[in-house]
Amino acid sequence: MPRISSELNVLVVEDSKAMIETIRDYLAQMGIRHPMIALSGQEAIEMFQGNRPDIVLLDAILPDVDGFEIAKQMRALERDGEWAAIIFLTSKSKDEHLARGIEAGGDDYLMKPVSQVVLSAKVRAMQRLIEMQRSLLAVTHKLGAANKELQHLSMTDGLTGIANRRFFDEMFMREWRRCGRMQRPMSLIMIDVDHFKLFNDTYGHQAGDDCLKTMAAQAALAATRAGDLAARYGGEEFALILGETDADGSQWVANLIRQRISDLKMPHSSSPYHFVTVSCGVVAVVPNAKLSLQTFLQSADQALYLAKEQGRNRTVYVEFGQVE
Ligand code: GH3
Ligand code: MG
Ligand code: MG
Ligand code: MG
Repeated sequence: MPRISSELNVLVVEDSKAMIETIRDYLAQMGIRHPMIALSGQEAIEMFQGNRPDIVLLDAILPDVDGFEIAKQMRALERDGEWAAIIFLTSKSKDEHLARGIEAGGDDYLMKPVSQVVLSAKVRAMQRLIEMQRSLLAVTHKLGAANKELQHLSMTDGLTGIANRRFFDEMFMREWRRCGRMQRPMSLIMIDVDHFKLFNDTYGHQAGDDCLKTMAAQAALAATRAGDLAARYGGEEFALILGETDADGSQWVANLIRQRISDLKMPHSSSPYHFVTVSCGVVAVVPNAKLSLQTFLQSADQALYLAKEQGRNRTVYVEFGQVE
């Protein structure tokens, strides 16, 4: 007699003691030694809920509820991805009964008295389906995880690990609308590394990359609130969105970042400051439908340009739309 993996969790729903013993004996020969036994429909539903069997051997005629009804209830209890094999065991031999059983959610329909050979073969067939379903679930799970990872990668800058330009654009628009709805100010800080070309020329591109990682970490460290986002905007340029933050608040944050970076005292021998420094351009506005995001960005660029022009390693604020 082929043996079935004892991992299978079987629920036998049957009110006849004699039949229970026969089935128990058949299952034992397949290696299934501890089936759950339910003597009534209600017990069957309770056990199904509590133990989630792999296979249900379901008598169609029970003392309380019709077996077909029980199958329906079991199917209704199953959530996405869950599936138990339901095999009816019944003396109802008409074709219509078989059709009703399948309609009610049954996967197979066996006539009593059932033989050891037939029951064993049917349980084996169901076991194959159960294994297929398990591997499908595992693949689905892996796909879900891979999708999550992909989604994360599509929003992240490969070098620095902070948000990339794509995600910045998305969040910038979202925050613009959100602050516009609430009529609250929002700010944008543009950060650019000073004399970074010279840094690369002096220390090499690898050191340049490491420096950018440090800059990104400092920018991210300052983006602490729910509406904040630090992103790599382009090459050696970073952008910070600060939701619900006004001109004073954002200048304070920009200066904090600038100060922390200069305090790191990362050597930059070809910079007049001797250490790595950044310049920050800041702009704040209460968004409304008449204003454009483009002007917001241009204003921040203008502020950054002024910071460079005025000597670098500083923060400059401009009013929204003050673009020359
Ligand atoms: P300024 O103070 O006016 O900003 O001068 P700068 O030299 O920083 O500005 P410029 O725009 O002339 O040079 C930017 C440099 O940043 C040039 C480019 O090679 C470097 N860069 C851009 N992206 C990367 C990167 O991913 N890694 C490294 N190592 N360097 C980068
Ligand atoms: Mg019965
Ligand atoms: Mg630049
Ligand atoms: Mg630069």
